[in-house]
Amino acid sequence: AKADGRDGFRVFEVDMDTTARAITVLESDLRRALARDEFVLHFQPQVDLESGRILGAEALIRWRREDGDLVPPGDFLPSAEETGLIIPINEWVLNNACQQAAAWRKAGLPPLRVAVNLSAVQFRKQDVQKVVMDAIAASGLEPSLLELELTETILLQDTDLVVAQIKALQQQGVTFSIDDFGTGYSSLAYVKNFPVNRLKIDKSFVHNLKADVNDAAIVRAIINLGHSLGLDVVAEGVETAAQVAHLRAEGCDEVQGYYFGRPMPAEDFVALVRRETLL
Ligand code: C2E
Ligand code: CA
Ligand code: CA
Ligand code: CA
Repeated sequence: AKADGRDGFRVFEVDMDTTARAITVLESDLRRALARDEFVLHFQPQVDLESGRILGAEALIRWRREDGDLVPPGDFLPSAEETGLIIPINEWVLNNACQQAAAWRKAGLPPLRVAVNLSAVQFRKQDVQKVVMDAIAASGLEPSLLELELTETILLQDTDLVVAQIKALQQQGVTFSIDDFGTGYSSLAYVKNFPVNRLKIDKSFVHNLKADVNDAAIVRAIINLGHSLGLDVVAEGVETAAQVAHLRAEGCDEVQGYYFGRPMPAEDFVALVRRETLL
């Protein structure tokens, strides 16, 4: 719900979460956070199920408030979307993620892919191709080490425009994935219409994988679908060794989840990368 705040700032009430905690984020707070550079990126490893090695990370934003609190993205991104501040925020994410991945490369680590979440507003209001190419040029990152994650809200938009931008960036080497795959209204149409490189199985199917035969069947179907189309398949939300073993036996390519690590600061991620194998 949108209401006029007393100080002339618009106030946005974000959906209450399960703990019934009401969160109100002011547009002015987000502007100040950007100006003061209060956003941070955490990195969650993506692990190759064959070798057990880390192939890359998804970059996930957090807001470190003045008082030291770390605010999760679900608490401020909805306000950012409504106010349009998601555009400068995501630009910040893109630039910082590329710079970080380029720094890992320069530090002599094996090539690590970094995945960045895009937002539907960006495709409406911005030349995504230009913003991405600028971030790559400024960081010196090899384009093949950048992956862009697309969600249904993006795929529901003007297909021709989105497909054109995807193709142009792919020609430069950038890769694309469909996030939260299987939860959308027309997941099958998305793989048909959008030239992506990877599917990310939504964590809701992984959660009960060992207990629910329907979830197990869906996961198997997504892996087979992806492979039939020549796409890599990543499972998200992997929390247990049993899930890892199951996904490996099903031929899933990569996994991401708390089992291997929560989203973490860059230094912790690098320490994990230096280990031989996580399996
Ligand atoms: P997402 O893209 O689906 O990201 C995965 C979310 O699942 C992350 O939540 C991650 O912490 C969480 N997760 C990872 N492993 C597990 C697991 O094993 N179990 C469970 N239960 N959860 C796991 P996070 O970091 O709170 O991000 C929430 C959402 O916020 C993301 O969902 C994404 O849609 C959005 N987001 C985060 N960073 C950005 C960003 O920089 N730009 C944009 N546009 N959206 C972002
Ligand atoms: Ca994502
Ligand atoms: Ca996801
Ligand atoms: Ca999600």
